[in-house]
Order: sequence, then structure tokens, then C-alpha cells
Amino acid sequence: MRNIETDAVVIGGGATGAGILRDCALRGIKAILVERDDIANGTTGRNHGLLHSGARYAVTDGRSATECIAENRILKHIASHCVEETGGLFLTLPEDDLAFQDTFITSCTAAGIETKKLSRDQALKLEPNANPGMLGAVRVPDGTLDPFRLSSSNILDAVEHGGQLLNYTKVVGLIIEQGVVKGVNCVDMKTGEALAIRAQQTVNAAGIWGQQIAEYADLSIKMFPAKGSLLIMDYRINSMVLNRCRKPADADILVPGDTVSLIGTTSKKVPYEDIDTIKVDDDEIDLLITEGEKLAPILGKSRILRAYCGVRPLISVSGDTSGRNITRGIVIRDHKETDGLPGFVTVGGGKLMTYRLMAEMTTDLVATNLGSTACCVTSEKKLPGAARGEHSLPVKVSVPVSASARYRHGERSDGFLNESSKSQAVICECEMITRGELEYAINKLNARSLVDLRRRTRLGMGPCQGEVCACRAADVLQESLSVKGEVNVANDLDEFLQARWKGVLPVLWGDALREADFTYWTYQGLLGASSLKQIKHMDEEVPDYEV
Ligand SMILES: Cc1cc2nc3c(=O)[nH]c(=O)nc-3n(C[C@H](O)[C@H](O)[C@H](O)COP(=O)(O)OP(=O)(O)OC[C@H]3O[C@@H](n4cnc5c(N)ncnc54)[C@H](O)[C@@H]3O)c2cc1C
Repeated sequence: MRNIETDAVVIGGGATGAGILRDCALRGIKAILVERDDIANGTTGRNHGLLHSGARYAVTDGRSATECIAENRILKHIASHCVEETGGLFLTLPEDDLAFQDTFITSCTAAGIETKKLSRDQALKLEPNANPGMLGAVRVPDGTLDPFRLSSSNILDAVEHGGQLLNYTKVVGLIIEQGVVKGVNCVDMKTGEALAIRAQQTVNAAGIWGQQIAEYADLSIKMFPAKGSLLIMDYRINSMVLNRCRKPADADILVPGDTVSLIGTTSKKVPYEDIDTIKVDDDEIDLLITEGEKLAPILGKSRILRAYCGVRPLISVSGDTSGRNITRGIVIRDHKETDGLPGFVTVGGGKLMTYRLMAEMTTDLVATNLGSTACCVTSEKKLPGAARGEHSLPVKVSVPVSASARYRHGERSDGFLNESSKSQAVICECEMITRGELEYAINKLNARSLVDLRRRTRLGMGPCQGEVCACRAADVLQESLSVKGEVNVANDLDEFLQARWKGVLPVLWGDALREADFTYWTYQGLLGASSLKQIKHMDEEVPDYEV
């Protein structure tokens, strides 16, 4: 068994864990993040990516609204490459109560959220695909937030300041000695190797899985898993976030995200034991389309690219199991205070867009417990890539290619855009991703598979869903990693296509069905995908065979 020592070990590589790793590193606290899969593989990679202005919560939860608008402004400053300042409209439709508009505006003002009342015509001028039957709209500073870029930028900055990421490393137990948590026992999910990480502070940032981590210490943290499903359209229907001007309900947010639009979400309580096997149900798809059409009628005629779902990590604050005391706010527990178990801290609840605040509050606690007086700097210090436009060098690639790279990686794209003509070759046309960008993700952002590359670059997330780019990207991965024996590309391509297929399956009709059929015949008929595993077999049996 391998042994490592550190000051703090953080469990869970979602936005919250990534934010804590960065905060620790910037305060000079030696920290390691362990994630059982890849970063942003949990709920962080399964939401709308809405940078709330707080307006959605203004009427029902003033505290969350105030938190949101403060973090909204901070993220626009520190993570501009992950944020699109689209603005948002809250539409009042004929079946909604127009009187609610005034309550909404008053509550927004009380929370410090700027609003502007618009007539139907003014709103349609801003958003031509919005429902022309609307009675009016209110403009708010909503935006979008890319959860994948956000997580990987936090990790990149942490690593550049001494932090360490161990992805594909699962926590299988806590090290507890004389009533004190002294770290975690882990397993390397790729090699099966056991690993013990000893630390003075162990942070449980495992989201909805935090309940399982707490159970390793016989502690009870009651999660209330609420599943939410979403659909992705194959183009950007709307340029601003569209919401319904009413109390939050199902399927009332249409969010533009990079090259596509997302409609969400449903909310269904699911048994805790089902959290790893949830899937999108047919009735949810019907509901999302029916309600989505009300926000933008064109949605009903659009091709649906895929469906996906996530589970909100909601915690019961009082240990009550009835569900009455569930909070959407941030919950932090120092188990030394609440359960007499020093060395162990749990963070949960909150939102993607409050990840930084959650990280700040958690790291404050960790720092105090470690006797560190270093202050948090994450509300001011920009993430790597957020200096978009500030240091950009002239490049010899076309504007769509350079602009896409800069949009995703800011000033960090200067290096790979100028590297060589080989690195400038476009691999994914939907998202304008070059070979150099993929190599950057492999070498600097810890991508080890095609699915990892998807999370860091949007490979295969556009309209073709990987049909055209997957085999080319596999070639880049092969060249970069297989020399070191780190990847079996044949298996990896298979996993990538299966993951894409999983999201397409629930919406398999019309154009989506035709496209899926085309993909199938491209990979199966043209490239012989089913024989790829055989190639892997040959490689293993004839190790010195070279081509
Ligand atoms: C449908 C839906 C829509 C949403 N929309 C929005 C939105 O638009 N805007 C917004 O701000 N928020 C939104 N949210 C909320 C937001 O997505 C979550 O609050 C946030 O992503 C939680 O991040 P996290 O890092 O705390 O948890 P997670 O992202 O779930 O991270 C926990 C990590 O822990 C890892 N882990 C689990 N067990 C172990 C183990 N044993 N060892 C090691 N690692 C482990 C998991 O693999 C996972 O990666 C939405 C949520 C849902 C479900």
C-alpha cells in the first residue's frame, strides 16, 4: 500500500471540491483532492449551467438570492472564460399572474438584483424566439456558467500553487484513530492499488455521495435526493436565459450554452439507493417539451440532441427525516463540534454558482483547525484563462478557430494556437477544437480519455455528438498517451460512443434517430468498431508488434 501525508485531503472533484483545493493551495495549505472518476463527473456536470442572478429565488428565498447576486458578480470577474453574460428574461405568459411581476421586482430589489420591466415588443426584440403571446417580461443579470471549464480551471490553478489532484481514486474508508479522523483509505480505480492518505483535516465534499462518506465514520447525514432531468437542443434557440415569471416550477428555464440550448428541469424525489442508476423518464421528456414550447414555441420543432439528469445534493439541516427541513442553502459541519469527531468536515447543499463561497467557508474552517491565519483571496484572484483578451497574441488560424479557443481557455490558448501547423488542425468542427487544444487538455488539464477530453474542451458536445470527431480525437489521444501505456484507445473510443449513445437513447425519434443510425453505420459499417476490441487483444498478445 502506498502512503501519502498532507495537511488536508478533499473528497470529491465537483466544483465544490475543486474550489476547496484551490482555496487551500492559495493559502499555502498542502492539500490533495481525491475523485473516484473524473472531475465534474457528478452533479457538477449534470445541471443547466445557469449563472443565477438570484432572481429565481428572490420571492421564495431572499438569502439564496442575495448569495447568488454576490457570487454572480464575483464569477464574472474571476472566471470570465467560464461565464457568458447573456442576461435573462422572466416572461409572464397568458396563464401566469401578471400581478406577480411587481412582487418579483420588489423582491429582486430587496436582494440587490437589478431589474428592468420590458413590454412584450421590447422583450421580443431582444429575444425573437420567445413566446410572442407573452404579456411582458423583466430583464435580470442572469448568465451561463460552464461547469467543466470552471472545475478544471480551479484544479489547474490549485496544481500551479502546489495542490494535487488524484482522479480515478475512490475513497473506501476513513482512517480513524483514537476518535480522530486522520485521513482516507483509497483505491486507484485504474490499477486497483490501495492508497492511504494521512491528513490533519479530511473534507467531505462528495455532494450527494457525502452521506456514504459520513457513514464510514458512523455519522448520519441525511440527503434528500431530488432528480432533475434536462434536454439539449441542437442549436442555440435563445441568446438570453428565459425563465417563467412565477414561483419556481418544473421545466421553466431555457438556457443557452455554447452552441446549444438546454431546457430544464424536472424535480422528482428518488430513493437514496438509486442515485447511481437514475435515468430520464418518458413523462419527464414530455413535460420538458410541453413546458419548453411555452417559453419558446420553436423548441417543439427543434431536434433534441440528448437527455440527461442529475441529483441535487440537498441536506436535511436538523436531521429530520420528514423532508420539511431540507435546505437549498449551504450546509457546513465541523464534526468536531456536531459529533465530537475532530479532523472531519462536511460541506453540502448550495449550488454550482455558489461553489466559491462554499469553498471559502469550508477552507476558513479547515485553516482555523490547522492554525493557519492566511486569508481567502479567491473573490479577487482570477482563474487561469480568465485574462481573456488581455494577453492574446496574434495567431495564424482563422477567427472562428482562435475565437473558440480563447473563449474556452482565454490567455492559456496562446501557447497551443501558435505551436505548429500540425497542432492547428481542426479535429472537432462543431466546436472548432484543434489538435493543439486536445494536447493542452491532455498535458495540462489531466485528461486521460476521450470522455475527459469532452469535459475539458466540449469535444463531441455539439450537433454531431462526436460522430465526426471521435475517431480523429482518438488518434490524438493514442499518440499522446499510449506511448506511456496509459490508455487503450480502442476501449476508450467504445466508452466514449457508449456515453454519447446513453444520452441519445431517450430521445430517439425523427432527426435524432436518423443521425444515430448514420453514426452507427459510420462506426460499425465503415470503421468496423465492433472489431476494435479484437485489436486490443492482438496488442496484448503481441506486445512488440509495431506498425
Ligand atoms: C438538474 C439540476 C440542475 C441544476 N442547475 C443548476 C444551475 O443551473 N445552476 C447552479 O448554480 N446549480 C445548479 N444545480 C446544482 C448544482 O449542480 C450542484 O449544487 C453542484 O454541482 C454540486 O457540486 P458538488 O461539487 O458539491 O457535488 P458533485 O459535483 O456531485 O461532486 C461530488 C463528487 O464526489 C465524487 N465522489 C463520490 N463518492 C466518492 C468517493 N467515495 N471517493 C471519491 N470521490 C467520490 C463524485 O464522483 C463527484 O464527482 C443543479 C442541480 C441539478 C441536479
